[in-house]
Amino acid sequence: MKVLVVGGGVIGCATAYELAKAGCAVTLFERAVPGAEASGAAAGILAPLGESSGSPFERLAIASWRLYPQVAEELRGRTGIDVEYVSRGTIYPLLTTEAVRAAGARVARLQSSVFGIEAWDAADLREHEPALARTVRGAMFVRGDHWVNNQRLVVAYAQAAVAAGVALHSGVAVTRVAIEAGRVRGVVADGDLLDTDAVLLATGAWTAQLAGTFGARLPVEPRRGQMLALTHVPPVVTHAIHAEDVYLVPRPSGELLVGATVERVGFKREVTAQGIGGLLAAALALVPGLGGLSISRTWFGFRPWAPDGMPILGPWPGVEGLYVATAHYRNGILLAPITARLMSECMTGHRPSPELKAFLPDRFLRP
Ligand SMILES: Cc1cc2nc3c(=O)[nH]c(=O)nc-3n(C[C@H](O)[C@H](O)[C@H](O)COP(=O)(O)OP(=O)(O)OC[C@H]3O[C@@H](n4cnc5c(N)ncnc54)[C@H](O)[C@@H]3O)c2cc1C
Repeated sequence: MKVLVVGGGVIGCATAYELAKAGCAVTLFERAVPGAEASGAAAGILAPLGESSGSPFERLAIASWRLYPQVAEELRGRTGIDVEYVSRGTIYPLLTTEAVRAAGARVARLQSSVFGIEAWDAADLREHEPALARTVRGAMFVRGDHWVNNQRLVVAYAQAAVAAGVALHSGVAVTRVAIEAGRVRGVVADGDLLDTDAVLLATGAWTAQLAGTFGARLPVEPRRGQMLALTHVPPVVTHAIHAEDVYLVPRPSGELLVGATVERVGFKREVTAQGIGGLLAAALALVPGLGGLSISRTWFGFRPWAPDGMPILGPWPGVEGLYVATAHYRNGILLAPITARLMSECMTGHRPSPELKAFLPDRFLRP
């Protein structure tokens, strides 16, 4: 089967890879380079436990989280790239004694043993992460929150895809999806119409624009995130730290990521004084010892967001051969492995897995 994948973010690259492994002849079009947008801009946090325990979203997230150790090994084996998969755990700081007490009760309710969740008091914090400010009274510690270097991850997926036979075309934008008599015919790229059996739209925050080329309205919008990195050699903190207004992610390769804003500003391609200043102020309040580190870079990215905050995954209703995988919002890195597997399964003739049911595009589209 011939498949055209549009979009070389983590979702497009990972799915192209799985499709090639399943025997498809895959062509991937990326208008810039793999990882040029949200997938390169992310922090790479793999935190599967959400607010609503046991929800379809949390089940999907946990399923993807479970795949990660194997995915990291597989990608290293096929490409030699180390995606810096770190499983040291995340500290969620608590600032009041009541919050510390409530955390103890919450730990008892959660799947504490599977995810290694502990309630820490001030003494635990001093022992495990002494650089945290004294204003932090305690913490929830989640050993199961992991992280990867997402830039490396996208490149590794892209290289693995090419090694598995995917024809990757960087610098080629798809300008139109061609549909005839209720069936996808192909895509127009560089002015040429390319015929195919199936098309996957994996164009992140730009998917609504591409859907517009065949008259469909998909309510996917960008949510800008600004971030910065500090040179972190030698490291000041050793765990990821996730507070309400900022998170810190120490990478083995010597950077500390500080993220991230969530802004509804369309596709404004800039970092702002307020965005970066706010993140820095929150980071220094949490870990005063970061003040002397140098800023190595700042950046922004556009998370693909749908009105219910959940991914949109599966066959496009009313158009045979057309599929979409987008709107992963704040969790696209975490959800990439499971998205790639489920999409590849459903595109190669299997019925959409029950795990996709809550995420089908039908909730926004009528045939
Ligand atoms: C600051 C920030 C921090 C984040 N942190 C995390 C995190 O810690 N953990 C986590 O799990 N997630 C995180 N995310 C979310 C995650 O980055 C996204 O959910 C994920 O990257 C989306 O992947 P994607 O492939 O759908 O989109 P993208 O990576 O945006 O890829 C879409 C690709 O499609 C290409 N494209 C668009 N239109 C066309 C066209 N017409 N023709 C050809 N190519 C086209 C674009 O160039 C782009 O490369 C973060 C995001 C941001 C911005």
